[in-house]
Amino acid sequence: MAAELDWSSLGFHFRPTNKIVVSYYKEGQWSAPVTTSDFTVALNCFANVFHYGSACFEGLKAFRGKDGKVRLFRPDENAKRLKSSAERLGIGAVPEQMFTQMCLTAVKENIDFLPPYGYNASMYIRPVIIGTTPGIGVSSSAEAMFIVMVAPVGTYSGKKSLTPLTATVARNYDRAAPNGTGRFKVAANYAISLFPYNMAHSQGYGELLFLDPATHTYIDEFGSSNFLAIQGNKYVTPLSDSILPSITNKSLQQVALDLGLTVEKRKIALEEVADFDEINACGTAVVITPIKSIDDKARLEDAAPVKTYNMPSGEEVGKTSKKIYDRIRGIQDGIEEDIHNWCVFLD
Ligand SMILES: *Cc1c(COP(=O)(O)O)cnc(C)c1O
Repeated sequence: MAAELDWSSLGFHFRPTNKIVVSYYKEGQWSAPVTTSDFTVALNCFANVFHYGSACFEGLKAFRGKDGKVRLFRPDENAKRLKSSAERLGIGAVPEQMFTQMCLTAVKENIDFLPPYGYNASMYIRPVIIGTTPGIGVSSSAEAMFIVMVAPVGTYSGKKSLTPLTATVARNYDRAAPNGTGRFKVAANYAISLFPYNMAHSQGYGELLFLDPATHTYIDEFGSSNFLAIQGNKYVTPLSDSILPSITNKSLQQVALDLGLTVEKRKIALEEVADFDEINACGTAVVITPIKSIDDKARLEDAAPVKTYNMPSGEEVGKTSKKIYDRIRGIQDGIEEDIHNWCVFLD
């Protein structure tokens, strides 16, 4: 099956693979994980997830290095974040070690779907926890299911990586409440952001930028990726309680420090975009996506923006952003020294 795949044009899609890895939470215990080729989950239609949205997930990647070794990038960080998401939803939290082990098993069971080195492709790992207890009263799910699935992926857009995108601001839509679940990777955040996302896409924008939900003054993040800017020798990224703490952003900040940049984590007013040299969206799926322009609209539905910010980097990825990107991709591919011990190897 996998042999028929064209590694150079994978895009970012679901496709059937060999196995998924599953564990069940009941009476405070996770069952021993099992692998199965049956991707169909049978649930009672009263299951909590269908009614009250008890679902949280993760996204990480495995890479085939130039040295032939298989590396998972910082799974311990994803394990911690998933734990905090599950706790926020009041459903079973997966222990860190079990999380990493199940991710490793999922990669191993689907190893023929792991793209070879040299195609800028990888294996995307998608762990998800869902609340399965049947009920009708409003309560957290006592039982849960943890599933780890994988997909071989190339670039998110199917285009060459680092192709700059246009973005617009959503002033009249929020993806999270000020004291809500923005900093947790819960499925509900996506349910909420998809409507404005679809609107932005239908208007031809590649990305949608959300402002802080309390005042709509400061930059929060793009719908599924963090915001980072380069200004001279500075790496600038927003500080806010409603942003998802991106592991890519955290890693890029460390790489920026390693390369001699300074890192500023602070509130960033939208108007400051005019002062930045380079802007990117960042996340596991793409590492970075350069942003070439940002439209500011009073309402997303409006045809004309109030203002357009054009980035000086234009149709190119910014020079400093590219340097940071190359270092991180090099670590993932085993061609740059992993000085922070980020990678976990498949034996
Ligand atoms: C997952 C996610 C990100 C990116 O996080 P990474 O750990 O870098 O993949 C950013 N924003 C949102 C809303 C997300 O769900």
